[in-house]
Amino acid sequence: MKDRETMLAGAGTNTRLCHLGHDPFAYHGFVNPPVVHASTVLFPDVETMESRRQKYTYGTRGTPTTDALCAAIDALEGSAGTILVPSGLAAITVPFLAFLSAGDHALIVDSVYSPCRNFCDTMLKRLGVTVEYYDPAIGAGIETLIKPNTKLVHTEAPGSNTFEMQDIRAISDIAHRHGCVVTMDNTWATPLYFKPLDFGVDISMHAATKYPSGHSDILMGTVSANAAHWEKLSEANITLGICGAPDDSYQILRGLRTMGLRLDAHQKAALAVAEWLEGRDGVARVLHPALPSFPGHDIWKRDFKGASGIFSFVLAADEPAKFKPKARAFLNALSVFGLGYSWGGYESLAVMVNLDDRTICKAPSEGPVIRLQIGLEDVPDLLADLEAGFAAAAAI
Ligand SMILES: *Cc1c(COP(=O)(O)O)cnc(C)c1O
Repeated sequence: MKDRETMLAGAGTNTRLCHLGHDPFAYHGFVNPPVVHASTVLFPDVETMESRRQKYTYGTRGTPTTDALCAAIDALEGSAGTILVPSGLAAITVPFLAFLSAGDHALIVDSVYSPCRNFCDTMLKRLGVTVEYYDPAIGAGIETLIKPNTKLVHTEAPGSNTFEMQDIRAISDIAHRHGCVVTMDNTWATPLYFKPLDFGVDISMHAATKYPSGHSDILMGTVSANAAHWEKLSEANITLGICGAPDDSYQILRGLRTMGLRLDAHQKAALAVAEWLEGRDGVARVLHPALPSFPGHDIWKRDFKGASGIFSFVLAADEPAKFKPKARAFLNALSVFGLGYSWGGYESLAVMVNLDDRTICKAPSEGPVIRLQIGLEDVPDLLADLEAGFAAAAAI
């Protein structure tokens, strides 16, 4: 029998997802890793305690369960190390705290996940970091915004809610020429459809809450670093005392086993719904990177291996922007789609998007933006539900 690493080296994505992270024969042959609940770890003697050579020393510093998940993520990301944090938002804030200090300047994409902007505008500001938002379409033009004290460039592609693409390679190359750390929120694509570190990114962040969890019941974030940035990231993690819980880590690793199949289904269904919407009356625009009509489509096609299941569309509604009665009627008429935040689970969701905090990528003028997370339901049922929404909107 070949050893596991040789077996996995040339294997396909789903084979790797099925076998990464845990070697059953390292734990009595059980297929899944043990869930280790731990604070205290015992040492056989004082000398071992002082030597700091024992693999596990305390619950906050990792267990066989968290290690199994981190090893799987490292294999998918091609990273030197991964830390686990209690939410996707913490997967952004912890590395920002690791790499930014008072007096530094950070460049953040304007189409960023909105709670990240809140962190920047409140806590980072209070800590003496200045933040500037940039146009996702900037590409190599990022150079004009870099100052002597710029330390970090944060990217997210596609952007939250409006799905703008970014030329990650061009931005990374310029940022590195000026000594900046490049971070990327890669939650939308997962490492299956985009591998940030292969495009020059130093730190890849994920809300594992989304596709790795897949069932709308776990909150977790992962942050993966290349070799040059791993030590500093790991140090910040230990200093802050932020770590992943054992049961959650186990569930995320469990979710990874089926993530390839789920993503494939999300991708196909979402594209079918997006194409259907594009041809429909009442729709001004569909914001989905895999549609040839979408402005960032060429970048998506060049750099990404797939599209996941979340996108938006602009309802053609000539109505007062403040009250959005047609959009409200549309959403209230849905029954398969639930009204709720987050995404990546098996069930479809719809929300009205608020873009009021944007300074560059402002809200479309044609009407309200509705974001759809396409779950694993049958597409005809989803289309029938959306038809009910359009009928309700048209009746206003
Ligand atoms: C949901 C989300 C997060 C935050 O994840 P939570 O686990 O909900 O905190 C971060 N980034 C993006 C792009 C997200 O969509």
